[in-house]
This record gives sequence, C-alpha cells and structure tokens, in this order.
Amino acid sequence: MPVLVMKFGGTSVADLARIENAAKKVQAEVERGYDVIVIVSAMSGKTNELVGWVEGTSKLYDAREYDAVVASGENVTAGLMALRLQEMGVPARSWQGWQVPINTTSAHGSARFVSIPRENIDAKFAEGFKVAVVAGFQGVSAEGRITTLGRGGSDTTAVAFAAAFAAERCDIYTDVDGIYTTDPRICGKARKLEKIAFEEMLELASLGAKVLQTRSVELAMRYKVRLRVLSSFEDTDETSGTLVCDEDEIMESKVVSGVAHSRDEAKMTLVKVEDRPGIAGAIFGPLAEAGVNVDMIVQNISELDEPGDKRAFTDMTFSCPTNQVARAQKAIEEAQAAGKFTYKELVVDTDVAKVSVVGIGMRSHAGVAAKMFNALAAENVNIKVIATSEIKISVLIDRKYMELAVQALHDVFALDKV
Ligand code: ADP
Ligand code: ASP
Ligand code: MG
Repeated sequence: MPVLVMKFGGTSVADLARIENAAKKVQAEVERGYDVIVIVSAMSGKTNELVGWVEGTSKLYDAREYDAVVASGENVTAGLMALRLQEMGVPARSWQGWQVPINTTSAHGSARFVSIPRENIDAKFAEGFKVAVVAGFQGVSAEGRITTLGRGGSDTTAVAFAAAFAAERCDIYTDVDGIYTTDPRICGKARKLEKIAFEEMLELASLGAKVLQTRSVELAMRYKVRLRVLSSFEDTDETSGTLVCDEDEIMESKVVSGVAHSRDEAKMTLVKVEDRPGIAGAIFGPLAEAGVNVDMIVQNISELDEPGDKRAFTDMTFSCPTNQVARAQKAIEEAQAAGKFTYKELVVDTDVAKVSVVGIGMRSHAGVAAKMFNALAAENVNIKVIATSEIKISVLIDRKYMELAVQALHDVFALDKV
C-alpha cells in the first residue's frame, strides 16, 4: 500500500470537534487506498501551559523532566485521534515516541533524530491496521529518557516519517491554507504561493516564518520529501495548499519571493572592547558554551583611545533571542571576570525585531538591498543591524515598526502580484 503522512497542528486538534474533523480527512485518504501515518501536535495552547508549569516549579530545571512533562500534550491527542478513528470504523492505534521507537540524541529540548525503525508500525499495517497515529515532537534517547525536538517539532516528526516510510507525500494541515509571501496575519495583501523552493522555505523558516519548523524543511530537502502545507478547515484535494519543492519545478521566478519577521530578538552591544587578534573568539566562545544562539554580528571600526595610544578599541554588537539575554549577559560578565577580555559597558536592547526579505533570484540580481533600505527609510524606520547572505537580507529594527516594515517591503517588491 502507498503510504501518506498527514500532520495536524495544534489548532487543528484544539478540541474534540476539530479532532473529528481531522479524522474525517484521514478516513478519506484511507478510502483512497493509503496506509496513513498521522502525526499530531498537542491541542493548541497546551504546550505553552506545560512549559509554564515546568518553569513555575523550577527555575533551573532538569531538562529531562522538562521533556517528560512537555511531551505529554501530544500523547493525549494521539490517543484521542486513534479513538475517534476507531469510532468511525477505521482500524487505528496510537504510538508514543518510545513505542515506535523514535530514536533521538539526548540533547533534551532540541533533540535530533537518530533512527526511526519501521518494523513495529509495518507489522501493524500488515495485520490490517490502516492508520498509525504518532505523537509528534517527541522521541526517546539512548539512555531511555523522553526527548523533545524543539518548538514546532511535530513538523519535523512528520517529514522524518515521510522519509523513513518512503511516503508518497507529507501533508502538513494547519490553520492557514498554504504558505504565503509573508505571514497573512500581519499583512493583508499576503499572497498564497502555489509552490516554493526548499531553499527559500528554509530561509523563511529560519528567519521566523513559523508555518514550518526549519529542521523539517532541511530534512525534506535532504530526503526529497514532497512536502505540502494546507488548511485543515477547508475541503481540500491533491491540488490544494502550497508545495515545497525543488527550484527547477517552479516557473514563476521573482527576485524576492517572501518576507519573514521574528519578533523576539534582542540586541546586545559591548562598548569599547579592546581590539586585538582573538577578541571575537574570546567573546563568542563563552556565549556558544552557554548555549546562546547568536545570530547577527557587527564589529565597528577600531579606534585609538587617544592619539598616540597603543591600544585600539571597538564596539561589538550581536543579536540573540530575547529569552537568552540573561544567559548571554551572565556568560559575558563571567568571561570578563575571568580576564578573557575587557569592555566599558554592556548595552542591552530587548525591543527589537528582525525583518528579512528572501529570494533565490537575489543570487543574480543587484540592487535588492538598496531597494529594501530605501523602502524602510521612506517609512522612517531606522535600521540598527544588517546581515546578508546569498538569498536573504535581514535588518534589525525597533519592534514597534515590525508590522509596518513587513507591509512596506511586501509592497515595494510587489509580492501581492504574480
Ligand atoms: P500549527 O499549530 O498548525 O503547527 P503554526 O502556528 O505553527 O501552526 O504555523 C501556522 C502559522 O504560521 C500561521 O497561522 C501564520 O500566522 C504563520 N505564518 C508565518 N509566516 C507564514 C507564511 N509565510 N505563510 C503562512 N503562514 C505563516
Ligand atoms: N506542541 C509542540 C509545540 O507547540 C510541537 C508542535 O506543535 O509542533 O511546540
Ligand atoms: Mg507549528
């Protein structure tokens, strides 16, 4: 039997009625002749609640217990989905990560897949089961502990199963009817895309478009999984939603194809760091050891303190997620106390957001940056930090201008038009 993977996100399984609605979509695919692997998220809001309970119990919590608690949301929806399918006469059972088993590394809170052996689920399909409902977002480590894959991780579970079972397609059902040129909740003119290239989706996801977890796009690209995003609230068929696919399957080619935003960014500046060989390593080494995900980095030109002075000084600015600021600050202060480097002041700005434009067409077109900066200037938005790569340009700006910036960039690159 051909295998299909269907993933339902939090809002798509938010209550019993929505679970029933999702189950009907699964039943329809079974009737079309598929063996179906259903990946479920926790009911919407549940994972946040569980995280809150852990943080309310323990500030410096044991990450293994965090995972044990936070993974439980998916167990509930997996069982309920299997029960609903059984009620509809579809032979189904639920699988928690350890039962499959979904083997992962032991990096709790951000574990990665090691292997997903097929035997147990295949044996059940061979017995006549039509649906395996698998709890997303979780796995089991070599030590036998429950692990989780990072927020949004059920997308990655879905793609990994599609790869492991050579599924015909991996359908990600969510609360929007596809992937848009930008978040449709921020920009009313956002346009649904019929197809998007893996590379572009990878950039958009890693720059904040949470419609797919970044890692899921990486896996889909590596294993050539046909990945589709579509609505769980509408009637859908094989042509619905947005397909994430290879670049050469896409006819339409724009220079910029999407705008992404990330709200929870912080900017930190080390003022007047002594500028000498090794200084960047001395600063960013301790940050990496503390697990801080440093994103953009800017080093100012070096200046002599006073004319004739032998020592030169510079300012070093970087960005990281807001919830890692305390950890970053601690790492920097400890490194300074240990004599690794000196600085005059540490300035923290937690009121910033990152806005990015993405497009594979940028590889062969000049002038995108200038157009982007001029559009922001026309709205009086000040740019604090800039970072570029082959197919993206990102800027850090005051958070209060984030929506405005997204809309302005969507307009200037005419993303509402095909
Ligand atoms: P789920 O719970 O189904 O996993 P998510 O909330 O994780 O759903 O992802 C879907 C959300 O992603 C949408 O509601 C939308 O607000 C947001 N989003 C951000 N960028 C985009 C984009 N470019 N296209 C579509 N949705 C986007
Ligand atoms: N429930 C998890 C989360 O909210 C995983 C997911 O939904 O993908 O992050
Ligand atoms: Mg999600």
